[in-house]
Amino acid sequence: MNKAEEKIAVVGGGLVGSLFSLYLAQRGHDVSVFERRSDPRKAGFIGGRSINLALSDRGWKALEMVNMAEAVKKMALPMKGRMMHAKNGTTTFQPYGKEGQAIYSVSRGGLNKLLLEAADEHKDVSLHFDHQCKQLDLKTNRATFAVGEKKEVLQFDRIIGTDGAFSAVRSRLMKTERFNYSQKYLTHGYKELVIPAKEDGTHRLDPEALHIWPREEFMLIALPNLDGSFTVTLFLAFEGEISFKSIEASGNPMVFFEEHFPTAIKWMPNLLQDYNDNPTPSLVMISCYPWHFEDKVCLMGDASHAIVPFYGQGMNSGFEDCSVFNDLFEEAGGDWGATFEAFSKKRFPEAEAIRELALRNYIEMRDKTADPMFLLQKKIEKRFSQLHPELWTPLYSQVTFSHIPYDTALANGEVQDQIMKAVMDRPDIHDVWESDEMEKAILKAIGR
Ligand code: FAD
Repeated sequence: MNKAEEKIAVVGGGLVGSLFSLYLAQRGHDVSVFERRSDPRKAGFIGGRSINLALSDRGWKALEMVNMAEAVKKMALPMKGRMMHAKNGTTTFQPYGKEGQAIYSVSRGGLNKLLLEAADEHKDVSLHFDHQCKQLDLKTNRATFAVGEKKEVLQFDRIIGTDGAFSAVRSRLMKTERFNYSQKYLTHGYKELVIPAKEDGTHRLDPEALHIWPREEFMLIALPNLDGSFTVTLFLAFEGEISFKSIEASGNPMVFFEEHFPTAIKWMPNLLQDYNDNPTPSLVMISCYPWHFEDKVCLMGDASHAIVPFYGQGMNSGFEDCSVFNDLFEEAGGDWGATFEAFSKKRFPEAEAIRELALRNYIEMRDKTADPMFLLQKKIEKRFSQLHPELWTPLYSQVTFSHIPYDTALANGEVQDQIMKAVMDRPDIHDVWESDEMEKAILKAIGR
């Protein structure tokens, strides 16, 4: 069958679906994107709240391959490091990587609209909003969509499921032979809040940092927006001694904020209203395998691997799915079945690894970033990495500023952890951390 005659459906026009439709169109395919929601370019995003995401190298590469990086750069704010805010108001800045490296704060709604706009402009892509996929017939590859009160049944040669963590496409694959699936909720949920811009439209905090108020079992973070505001997120347990439930029981959320975040709340004049108005969503992790059915259906993005957001890699890994798929499709000479299979096999262990890394990073962000020994460890690693860049890339940089497969990064990180544990256990660590002796000890530990 000629490429242009082949009909491809992308179910879910979120971040990954809209990007992947551009990849398919670039290869000359005829693509129809079906999105449950109304057109965000007309309807606005989730009550107009400004929710942002951290975009890093894996995402940028995937955007570059369809010439979208330049346009996205215009709406992205570089965050060069973490700014930790202690309870007493002191701040500590920790760069994320080397000079010139940063992660970027981007508006989720703005990015989605930009990608949809680019897809809409492409002659081979048609967008269908208010189309909710309800059912798939895997024998005939027919998809049923609810469109208002009506139903539409359409047939496709391939169906790509990019319909997020609660994917309808995945639900159908779950009924196929030997399909593995697991879902787990984090004990913590989140609440989005705002630090508005100053009167003159500038930021109240350094806009070149991701701000963290680590409080061991919970934390507040803030990412800058272009309009001078920050989107603030409180991550907290649903239940327990200090939890959303205990805040509710106290009858006054301000007591909690005054006790734990006294320095942050002075910049949040609408805190109470935002707290009461905004929902408290949960965080789910999804693992499934395989990600495809024959040469007909394939899952990508959160539909196949939803993770917790603490490494800032959910969207980035979903974007990387698009670029990796494209490379595999090229290698397979355009054979869909072979590509789907190779994609499932390659990406599943990588997704498992980033799921694990993201979970571990929650503990690092909320707890360890306030620990002086942890900060010293990071300084030692950074120093050694600057002296021997070919021998040591910090784990954060492997995940965020490289394209090393996530499972390789996880394995490398575990070796580094062992070495650093021995280093940090030295009783004289505070005296020797910057010495030649320390450098030699690490070289020896890595077999040099
Ligand atoms: P989604 O964005 O969920 O899009 C799925 C789309 O499918 C939606 O538009 C939905 O309406 C549509 N849909 C659903 N069901 C149907 C159906 N039956 N029929 C038709 N359409 C359907 N990632 C990062 O990389 N960096 C970050 O900093 C970051 N921060 C995050 C912070 C929070 C609080 C959360 C919750 C997540 C964060 N993520 C981050 C993760 C990121 O949001 C997701 O990984 C990303 O949105 C996944 O994109 P997706 O397109 O696969 O799924």
